[in-house]
Order: sequence, then structure tokens, then C-alpha cells
Amino acid sequence: MDVSELARFRRMLETRREELVALSEAAADKRKPVELDQQSIGRLSRQDALQQQAMAKAQEARRAGELRKIAAALSRIDDGEFGYCAECGEAIAEKRLEIDPTTVRCLACAA
Ligand SMILES: [Zn+2]
Repeated sequence: MDVSELARFRRMLETRREELVALSEAAADKRKPVELDQQSIGRLSRQDALQQQAMAKAQEARRAGELRKIAAALSRIDDGEFGYCAECGEAIAEKRLEIDPTTVRCLACAA
């Protein structure tokens, strides 16, 4: 993979990282402990509020997982390992990387 392609994947990864950080910040309020005061919850029941909080926490955990994969992919770019399968060492098809630049295995090894 040439330098300009690597730079393109780096931008893709960095853009996605920015999106995830922005989403996480936007949803920070939803992860706060549920208020006991029913007034602040409005018409939602406490049970609904707790359920929404649990969903917000699960989403945050997924975002954290994706951020870890992005950080790993960026360090593979720095180390010159990006685009090579972690199992067999062959080049990963570029179309596969386009779909998910954090992927670490080629199609054959992932199957
Ligand atoms: Zn492989």
C-alpha cells in the first residue's frame, strides 16, 4: 500500500474517531445516574429512565470498543503493519479495509 493510500485510511480512522468522541460527549447526560426526583424525569417512569440509561451505557461500551480498534489500527499504520493480515501476513484486500479499516485479518483467515 502506498503512502497516499495509508494517509487516506488514516484520515478515515481519524474522522471516525472524532465522530465517536462527539457522539459520546453528546450522550454523556444520558449515562448520568437516574435522578430519584420524579419531577426531573417528567412523564417517563423511573423504570423507563433506568432502561434508557442502561442502553446509553451499552452504546458507550460499544463506542469504547471501536475507539480501541481505531487506536490499534492507527498504531499499525505508524508501525508499517497496516493492511497485512495478523494471522497469515498476506495483504488484506483493500475493499475489505474500505468497509472496515480496523480489520486485522484477511477474508480467508477471518472465515
Ligand atoms: Zn490471513
